[in-house]
Amino acid sequence: MPTALYPGTFDPVHNGHIDIATRAAGLFEHLTVAVYARPLKNLLFDVQERQAMIERALSHIPNLSVVTYNELTVDFARHIGADAIVRGLRVISDFELEFQMALIQKKLAPEIEFVCLMTSQEYAFLSASTVKEVAMLDGNVDFMVPSQVAEALRAKFKGPGNGADVVRLVSLRD
Ligand code: ADP
Repeated sequence: MPTALYPGTFDPVHNGHIDIATRAAGLFEHLTVAVYARPLKNLLFDVQERQAMIERALSHIPNLSVVTYNELTVDFARHIGADAIVRGLRVISDFELEFQMALIQKKLAPEIEFVCLMTSQEYAFLSASTVKEVAMLDGNVDFMVPSQVAEALRAKFKGPGNGADVVRLVSLRD
């Protein structure tokens, strides 16, 4: 049975990611969830924090491991011998981006397949940016993330010098 890589930023992991990882682990012999250390994004959590939160959230799945990486995703997939790269799709704009990425990555590593899983309906609205924005404004994120992630978000945004400067305000943008 083939193995797969599920790469992402996971800043932080939320229920939509957990749903995709759980379903992908059911399709492959082994799933490696890989946390990209240095994306071109403002990060709220460092790579170890992001990895630890995913490990806790998915520790009940035996054929799943969580690692960090810092290279081209297809190169990393090759290094670990993954047969496929899994991504999640929510909206049309996700498709355009993933399609472009998949075509480029297929050129770089033709032997690796790209598998996109559709979001479950209840998570279609969820993104890490939304989670951070709601948490920053002291809203309830309990239905979006595991309780340990909700606690970590509260801790980040508590007090002066908090993480607010790295949160992109999605709902307020023009
Ligand atoms: P990126 O890797 O683009 O920085 P994320 O780390 O937020 O994005 O997400 C990793 C993967 O999980 C991506 O394929 C993304 O489309 C997918 N994903 C994010 N949120 C959801 C969701 N609510 N439902 C399904 N898939 C999702």
